[in-house]
Amino acid sequence: MDQNVTAQDKLYIGGEWRRGRGAEIASNFPADGSLNATLPGASVEDVDLAIERAQDAAHDPAWRKLLPHERATFLYRIADGIARAADRISHVQSRDTGKTLTETRALAMSASGTFRYMAATLETMEDALTPSRGNYLTMSVYEPLGVTAAITPWNSPIASDAQKIAPGLAAGNAVLLKPSSWSPLVCLELARVIEEAGLPKGLFSTLPGAGAIVGEKLVTDPAIRKVSFTGGTETGRDIARKAAEKLMPVSLELGGKSPTIVFADADLDVACAGVMFGVFSSTGQSCIAGSRLFVERSVYDAFVTKLVAATERLRIGHPFEATTQVAPLIRPKHRAEVESHVERALADGGKLLTGGERPSGSDYADGTYYRPTIIAGLDNDSRLCRDEVFGPVLAVLPFDNEDDLIRQSNDNSYGLACGIYTADFPKAWRVARAIDTGTVWINTYKQFSIATPFGGTKDSGLGREKGRDGIHAWMAQKSIYCDLSQAPHPWAKAAL
Ligand code: NAD
Repeated sequence: MDQNVTAQDKLYIGGEWRRGRGAEIASNFPADGSLNATLPGASVEDVDLAIERAQDAAHDPAWRKLLPHERATFLYRIADGIARAADRISHVQSRDTGKTLTETRALAMSASGTFRYMAATLETMEDALTPSRGNYLTMSVYEPLGVTAAITPWNSPIASDAQKIAPGLAAGNAVLLKPSSWSPLVCLELARVIEEAGLPKGLFSTLPGAGAIVGEKLVTDPAIRKVSFTGGTETGRDIARKAAEKLMPVSLELGGKSPTIVFADADLDVACAGVMFGVFSSTGQSCIAGSRLFVERSVYDAFVTKLVAATERLRIGHPFEATTQVAPLIRPKHRAEVESHVERALADGGKLLTGGERPSGSDYADGTYYRPTIIAGLDNDSRLCRDEVFGPVLAVLPFDNEDDLIRQSNDNSYGLACGIYTADFPKAWRVARAIDTGTVWINTYKQFSIATPFGGTKDSGLGREKGRDGIHAWMAQKSIYCDLSQAPHPWAKAAL
């Protein structure tokens, strides 16, 4: 084990560091395949223990009755702790996922910002006094749900974990985190920070392990009152079905096949940079990857030529090199899946414009590298334009007019994000309103703010995270009517 990666072989369960009783999980460094660490994963018994401790902690008046500004102090401390540990968290996440240090440091700082934002939101949240229709006072208040679960994927663990844990705790719940087995180490760093921040024991546990065992147990256990899930659409659908059985709220952040649109009047340098960043940053392992590119026909040839040339200049390299733009994919198995998407696209008649192979040379020999790939010549209903690849693979298509563009963009089962490049603002606005996705970027891509709600439509998900309402999504709403007359009800008065 690389001592820089983790010295931790225990999980944080119910406020204690314990050896997991589940199957062993291995974390490998995608840049060379070397073993980072092995970790005993969580078992069903571990989940039971975490739930038991979480129930006690969530219902303990010492937590439940804290005033919002008191609860917020824990979140501020966690935010500070993440910022202090950002270098270490970033290093561990880069070892776990192969992402560049530049990106993982930004993710760690964004996780810190998420806790800070949720703390500030909690302190300033207001219950509503609703207009009464009689001599009474009516209030709408929000209360914690109790024990909740967060299930996250491997691609941006610290950020997606924070996006759930921060509002979940702010809402006054206990939150049990199940990260992906492909990135098990980051959650332990987060647990260390949370423990140091003094969060009452039991309110947070880390339960890395198989989705079909640990994840399923969290979803189906009657004690869990909400699941917030980020991951693939089919897993999300399965979770939603099981949640329906126990009438439990779920929030689902799922996959995407997001269109990026370049109009002829766009600044083509801005558009080219945005398109590359949108699909090739994070080596395409991003739910919002702009993986379907529509270019207005009059500039199609010129723009695609420019894009291919610029893509070939992107620096593929080691995650720890500051100049690297395209780092390895997370696992050999995942690279094999990306490769088979490309093979299928070519078999369907796609024309390879660049990429479509592993980079050559000794620097790349042991890592799961794959060259940024651009494929033309396929229709919008081809498999490449329908299926999420989750790798650095872009399909390019021409369009003739706005109606044709909107029809093609929306003709997809996903609805996560969209990018529009144009100098014509009214046109950008018109198209943005006509596109059926949860987020639209105009002359930019992948900009994020914790203050702005995020989520998808159609197969991309259900519910929204982030924003001021992000905390309410983890709470139960209650209406309280308080009579002001102090007189018996007229309906029964005569009988008194
Ligand atoms: P995945 O669906 O395979 O796994 C996600 C998580 O769910 C993991 O922790 C996994 O162990 C768990 N899981 C698997 N089966 C389960 C089950 N039956 N019950 C409960 N939990 C289960 O996804 P992945 O491969 O880890 O991540 C890639 C996917 O995530 C892509 O589709 C990507 O688009 C999506 N994603 C979406 C967003 C978003 O915000 N919309 C963000 C990042 C990733």
